[in-house]
Amino acid sequence: MSDTTNDSLKPEEGVGEATPKNFIRDIIDEHNRSGRFGGRVHTRFPPEPNGYLHVGHAKSICLNFGIARDYAGKCNLRLDDTNPTKEEVEYVNSIREDVRWLGFDWEGREYYASDYFEQLYQYAEQLILKGKAYVCHLTAEQMREYRGTLTEPGKHSPWRDRPPTESLDLFRRMRAGEFPDGTITLRAKIDMASPNINMRDPVMYRVLHAHHHRTGDKWCIYPMYDYAHCVSDEMERITHSICTLEFEDHRPLYDWFLDELATPVHPQQIEFARLNMTYTLMSKRKLLQLVKEGLVRGWDDPRMPTIQGMRRRGYTPEALRGFCDRIGVAKNDSTVDVRLLEHCVRDDLNKRAPRYMAVLNPIKVTIENYPEGQVEWFDAVNNPEDPAAGTRKIPFGREIYIEQDDFMEDPPKKFFRLSPGKEVRLRYAYFITCTKVVKDPTTGRITELVCTYDPATRGGDSPDGRKVKSTLHWVSAAHAVKGEVRLYDHLFTIENPADAPGGDFHNALNPSSLQVLDGCLLEPALGGQEPGFRCQFERLGYFCVDPDASSAKPVFNRTVTLKDAWARAEKQGA
Ligand code: ATP
Ligand code: MG
Repeated sequence: MSDTTNDSLKPEEGVGEATPKNFIRDIIDEHNRSGRFGGRVHTRFPPEPNGYLHVGHAKSICLNFGIARDYAGKCNLRLDDTNPTKEEVEYVNSIREDVRWLGFDWEGREYYASDYFEQLYQYAEQLILKGKAYVCHLTAEQMREYRGTLTEPGKHSPWRDRPPTESLDLFRRMRAGEFPDGTITLRAKIDMASPNINMRDPVMYRVLHAHHHRTGDKWCIYPMYDYAHCVSDEMERITHSICTLEFEDHRPLYDWFLDELATPVHPQQIEFARLNMTYTLMSKRKLLQLVKEGLVRGWDDPRMPTIQGMRRRGYTPEALRGFCDRIGVAKNDSTVDVRLLEHCVRDDLNKRAPRYMAVLNPIKVTIENYPEGQVEWFDAVNNPEDPAAGTRKIPFGREIYIEQDDFMEDPPKKFFRLSPGKEVRLRYAYFITCTKVVKDPTTGRITELVCTYDPATRGGDSPDGRKVKSTLHWVSAAHAVKGEVRLYDHLFTIENPADAPGGDFHNALNPSSLQVLDGCLLEPALGGQEPGFRCQFERLGYFCVDPDASSAKPVFNRTVTLKDAWARAEKQGA
């Protein structure tokens, strides 16, 4: 890889090394030297089950599980389910499936923040008794007023100095369900004048009479993220709690809770830059909106940046892991070029995907001097990158189809494909020359091409050193299988969908992000392949069988084109 790229294209640190070094690993190495955690390395991946995982989560998964793997440590799967109103079992199941599909194993350590509700409650009572937490009756609006601003300190709540026994009594009654939602909270007693607003007596518990997908109706008070997260980490004896940069200002609070509770383990929170990618939205809330408004066909729509979407599109776990290694981790925000992801997918599929022939926009070709009714079977190489993949037989006959694009009646100078009087090679078969163009008499549209073939070029080899400038893919009319092909483009027309007019991503949606071609013709071996089957259509790109069972024809998603826009951009230093 050259390093002549500009900032937005430049991969972050750690690129190209077998075990990527980064600042997080430096911190862990230091802890191992100093013995802070006795040499233990234990991370966790802590999604909130309120949506499907996206490529940003893939970065976090690869980071957390990758560190555990490389340090002979452990990584837990933690479902951060403290918000009962937005969470669903469907999401939990998809998360488990996605982590596994990416190739990682939490070895049965699947935990839920809700498993710790009782412990969280007990710890809260301890803090109350210590005079470090109090029950407060300010409404959300009043609390905002009292909080102050970045330039002004906050004001003390009138209930801040009530006796611990009174707070304890009220807290117990909160748990018992005596108070309606939004009327009362438990707050940490820290510092209303702190320059860090997160430290201005943050709420620890709120009342929420809501059914929880795991704890049912047992609880009507729920802990806030900042309180629940550090305690969950502590309960699982996590050593390194890796999260994204927006939590940097929350770290003092993370440490405050654990210090005040004097817990036996005090994990180190470490922040890294979240993944942003061009032409891609990465917020679960906005992705949910795309799904709910029917702007895509579901969470697993192949245009979605979700793991399920990328998987359905034909991306491999190896390609995604390779991408995550390539981008590395850094401490400052940047945007990765989506073409790098596509490059990684292409790179991986190039090695493993068998090659086939398919014609997306067919035009018929009749080879007038080829015997009627004759069929020949030619050997085709399954994968030039992988000799072990072997060969297969493809049928050839008098009538074939080629791509409409591969013919021009009136070609410009540089057009080397088929045109009247021109000779081209049919891959694995023969040289053909176009002798006649048949048109619809009323519309003038070309309906068929008539060609002759040279029997001496059997197998596509020139007998006399005669050169042709181009080789076309084709399918035999008598044997072709009908298919539907879905071509995908970016969901958004601008690099940063957040810059859409009016700040509304709807204004930057790409109207042609999905193009359906339902008159495609495929070589016979492509019929009856299982969903998830991946291959290259020669000259066209990589494709993958879609699980859509509503169509009688096989449906192929285009995973990625063959043109490597990333490599080209890099070469140009663009
Ligand atoms: P979103 O903003 O999409 O709702 P989130 O941060 O709320 O994401 P969580 O379910 O809380 O989603 O995330 C689980 C883990 O994945 C967290 O540790 C979070 O930091 C990490 N993560 C989420 N988005 C990204 C991203 N774009 N890049 C890297 N890591 C991410
Ligand atoms: Mg979150």
